[in-house]
Amino acid sequence: MLYQCAATVKAKEEVAPFIYRFVFTLKDPPLISFTPGQYILLQIPDGFRQYSISSAPSESTRIETMVDVTPMGPGSRYLLQLKEGGVVNFRAPIGVFTLKENHRPKILLATGTGIAPLKSMILHIAQQQPVPDLYLFWGLRRKKDVYFTSLWSEINAKHPNFSYHICLSRERMDEPHYFNGHMQECITSSITPEVAAQADWYLCGRPIVVESLVTFIQQQYTVPKDRFFHEKYT
Ligand SMILES: Cc1cc2nc3c(=O)[nH]c(=O)nc-3n(C[C@H](O)[C@H](O)[C@H](O)COP(=O)(O)OP(=O)(O)OC[C@H]3O[C@@H](n4cnc5c(N)ncnc54)[C@H](O)[C@@H]3O)c2cc1C
Repeated sequence: MLYQCAATVKAKEEVAPFIYRFVFTLKDPPLISFTPGQYILLQIPDGFRQYSISSAPSESTRIETMVDVTPMGPGSRYLLQLKEGGVVNFRAPIGVFTLKENHRPKILLATGTGIAPLKSMILHIAQQQPVPDLYLFWGLRRKKDVYFTSLWSEINAKHPNFSYHICLSRERMDEPHYFNGHMQECITSSITPEVAAQADWYLCGRPIVVESLVTFIQQQYTVPKDRFFHEKYT
């Protein structure tokens, strides 16, 4: 069901340079249901902008989004001027990039704020029993661009079959869970052909990155086409 929502800005914080976390508390309707991976269509003064929901469906009275304001167009400027307590309007939930409920291993690939819908999926899966094998690969440039590390570490402590790899392309970090270089190398060093063939692959980020990752995976592994699910941030 598609809702026309009015919500209050509960939290706004800059979690990394140019990356803002927003939490919207729903006012009308007071709660909505959605599937992990879906997005909101945020009303801005001259139109609409899409932002993925990063919170779990179980938190049905609030919606979290992660916003990269580097485009600095009308959507970014609107969000930047919002203050806690302010009111926003959006339509939700929208989108077919949704988590498929099955027991397959899941390989999640994100760049930048493409992590948002994958976080919603991970939170949702972490509430299930048993938790399927879950592999997250997240591409960012530098350590200062990284957030959510304590969340990944908590989920990993509870569910050792959730593994996460933060791939930094422009900085070396000799710490567990960090990989120096591009995601492609990290994926091939962590995912066996057997797991690749069994898994569902979820990708989210800039179109060129999503397309090049799908091409790379198809060259490296034998993965049926219908196991790829992606959202391209245009
Ligand atoms: C389904 C969907 C879900 C999305 N979810 C998210 C999300 O959760 N978080 C998020 O941050 N974004 C998300 N996006 C992307 C976001 O909707 C766009 O970046 C949006 O256009 C930004 O609005 P704006 O008015 O600030 O910039 P616009 O005026 O729309 O764009 C300004 C210009 O900047 C370019 N541009 C876009 N992104 C960047 C960038 N990163 N760096 C430099 N230039 C850029 C655009 O191509 C355009 O030419 C999503 C997009 C889609 C399609």
